[in-house]
Amino acid sequence: MARRLSDLDVAGKKVLVRVDFNVPLDDRLHVTSDARIRASLPTIRALLDRGARPILMSHLGRPKGKVVESMRMKPAADRLGELLPGVTVKAVAECVGPVAEAAAAALQAREVLVLENLRFHPEEEKGDPAFAAALAKLADAYVNDAFGTSHRAHASVAGVTEHLPSAAGLLLEAEIDAFAKVLEAPARPLVAVLGGAKVSDKLPVLLHLVEKVDAVLIGGAMAYTFLAQAGVPIGRSLCEAELFDDARRVRELCQQRGVALLLPTDHVCAAEFAESSPASVHGPGVPVDLMGLDIGPETIAAYRARIATAKTIVWNGPMGVFEMAPFRRGTEAIARAVADSSAFSVVGGGDSVAAVEQCGVEDRIDHVSTGGGASLELLEGRALPGITALG
Ligand code: AMP
Repeated sequence: MARRLSDLDVAGKKVLVRVDFNVPLDDRLHVTSDARIRASLPTIRALLDRGARPILMSHLGRPKGKVVESMRMKPAADRLGELLPGVTVKAVAECVGPVAEAAAAALQAREVLVLENLRFHPEEEKGDPAFAAALAKLADAYVNDAFGTSHRAHASVAGVTEHLPSAAGLLLEAEIDAFAKVLEAPARPLVAVLGGAKVSDKLPVLLHLVEKVDAVLIGGAMAYTFLAQAGVPIGRSLCEAELFDDARRVRELCQQRGVALLLPTDHVCAAEFAESSPASVHGPGVPVDLMGLDIGPETIAAYRARIATAKTIVWNGPMGVFEMAPFRRGTEAIARAVADSSAFSVVGGGDSVAAVEQCGVEDRIDHVSTGGGASLELLEGRALPGITALG
């Protein structure tokens, strides 16, 4: 288990904090969603309350190792200042070297320093040891609160821990605890709901979860590879025929382990992958000239019933083409079913998180993950470099 913030001696110290301030900006460089900044407030406040001087570092966008004016951290620092009344938030236009060092040395109590975009330096993503050492030079201790990048062995995520006493921030700790509750000794039944575009993306997750879950509910385009492999007509739905052997293996593993594998029995179909294409419900197969773009009402009812019996639920990936109104009902129904359930629930992955927010049910989900890729890697049973590095 990674060291916790409460274990770290921070009073009077400068503490380097890896946050995720990768926020969207408009043309006038105003932050259009400050959700990620707000997510880091508990850690920043806890550090300030304990007399620490936080030095925040993050990436923003994809500057590809050079300075890009529209990707500076200043707008995020300004927004943080608005969210922290009574605290002075300063931004410095470098993240390593003499300018950053002088700004760090001048930092006072009740002040926060925001360093420049880490990815202006190619060394960050390469995990360059000298760059990690240059970052570490700015502070006395290190806190990782960026779950979304913890699956990358970048300098600011992994390398710095070799130089400073380190711990997980409160946001990272909540992520670690939530996934541990699902993957280690979960309350049963444990139900996994998996959707999204490709079986190939989710296969490692499926193979790992089959060892742990009592039921797996599959939706989204990935369901059609399983249905086609079992001989159900899928019309023109997306299908990865090269993965039939893997689909068969998952099915066999479920059988051997007594895991219920639920696949859609009806579908919202259309002739074109378009919002304007007239939608109709068919089942159990998809007519030859149509494609399945969402789970149908019978499938929703079956999945909802299974979710209602769960004591632990983990959900990743939409049940249909959630971006288009006619094909979003299945994903929204699952979001509501997960929210209505009294089970411990964890939702990860950009689209399922968006669905939860769109339905306004995020307050009734126990944990909405801040990291799509990182949460998938945890569900695959992989250790994340940023967490392992915290000891
Ligand atoms: P992923 O990134 O793997 O979670 O997949 C999300 C994408 O899967 C979304 O853009 C959905 O539109 C897409 N998707 C979900 N269901 C279907 C489907 N039945 N046919 C085509 N695309 C789908």
